[in-house]
Amino acid sequence: MSSAADIVTETPLGGPTLPQERRLVTSIPGPRSQELIDRKADAVAAGVGHTAPVHAVAAGGGVIVDADGNSLIDLGSGIAVATIGNAHPKVVAAVQAQVAQFTHTCFMIAPYDSYVSVAEALNRITPGDHAKKSALFNSGAEAVENAVKIARKYTGKQAVVAFDHGYHGRTNLTMALTAKAMPYKSGFGPFASEIYRAPLSYPYHDGLTGPEAAKKAISIIEKQVGADNLAAVIIEPIQGEGGFIVPADGYLPALVEWCRANDVVFIADEIQTGFARTGEMFASEVFGIVPDLMTTAKGIAGGLPLAAVTGRAEIMDASHAGGLGGTYGGNPIACAAALAAIDVFENDGMLQRAREIETVLKGRLQQLQAADPRVGDVRGHGAMIAAEFVDPATGEPDAALTAAVAKVSIAQGVIVLTCGTYGNVIRFLPPLSITDDLLHEGLDVVAAALAAS
Ligand SMILES: *Cc1c(COP(=O)(O)O)cnc(C)c1O
Repeated sequence: MSSAADIVTETPLGGPTLPQERRLVTSIPGPRSQELIDRKADAVAAGVGHTAPVHAVAAGGGVIVDADGNSLIDLGSGIAVATIGNAHPKVVAAVQAQVAQFTHTCFMIAPYDSYVSVAEALNRITPGDHAKKSALFNSGAEAVENAVKIARKYTGKQAVVAFDHGYHGRTNLTMALTAKAMPYKSGFGPFASEIYRAPLSYPYHDGLTGPEAAKKAISIIEKQVGADNLAAVIIEPIQGEGGFIVPADGYLPALVEWCRANDVVFIADEIQTGFARTGEMFASEVFGIVPDLMTTAKGIAGGLPLAAVTGRAEIMDASHAGGLGGTYGGNPIACAAALAAIDVFENDGMLQRAREIETVLKGRLQQLQAADPRVGDVRGHGAMIAAEFVDPATGEPDAALTAAVAKVSIAQGVIVLTCGTYGNVIRFLPPLSITDDLLHEGLDVVAAALAAS
């Protein structure tokens, strides 16, 4: 049995160079992984779950290596975070340089260049050529909280509309915005007030065109909330946790238009869809919309914790000085990582790579769908593609099948994630640094798991 130490070699820049292969030398979990899982059970709060029972010791390209020497194909990117690959050499170099320089001054105490440079980059690369400003935070949920704060301050109104199947985080306000009770909300109330929910466009289930679905949502918003009370509408352009739901053409533009006409701030939550994931820098571009505010996190900094709100300068400037911020927000190490990651997104062919991955994923999954009626729908953009599983006899969601396929795939060395309000969606979020060979092998394993389930 080879140990992890044998197979991790350091590049001059410090990023792990790992053989790009699926390699199982023990069953999953192996003994060392099992040891960690046992310690976790004793030491870590039970509410913090895990998808794959592995003890990760290295990751890069398209693989995660565990303490037993197994090398697993990574089709999840740590939930769309390691989009440019784990420990990307440019990120490693930027982090190493910054950590030796200074680790923290607090941007609100003594500001520094990298925070301002990240803001400038975000203002430049987000959709729309209007004047923009940004503010940086630590997590996606914190960015969403701040986007809502800013929209309320700007409009002088309080209500916020979120959508069916929406996911916006785990803090109190963002739990209220999130649709799904289990596991995100159950038992954790009471939730923040003045949050309302509108219907999404979900073509596979509602059969509506985009304009029809938008008309329905807008009618509900007008009747049940009223534009005069509404500060903001917040929506993921393609829903993440909710099931990679791609709204029908025309739905998002109609919502944006209605918001513009009614002094309502349109917030695109691009925390999962942002940074080349969909084959565009941001998913808003897939639908031709320009949001007023955008929240970003996950893929922004090559794995370091960073989040942002970016948007129209007049909206972003609505808050009084001192009203926005946080001790760690825009930490210099995370900002250095983000500048390196944004360089990779812009200059190393990442949009093109995401589109190539879409072709492979959709091609393979559509083949599966043609051969197996339990694959009800295949959808998504770029390296954000999902398969929804149903009972062919009734069309009902099949969460048990979905869980079985994911479990067997992981046991065979392929990390896949599930999602969806009904738990019946497998989502594919490979790092853009994965090879085509590994991607195909990962899909072979998922296909075999489906055939066996
Ligand atoms: C993950 C996610 C969040 C929450 O981000 P955290 O960093 O986990 O707080 C919010 N919105 C969307 C769309 C997400 O995918």
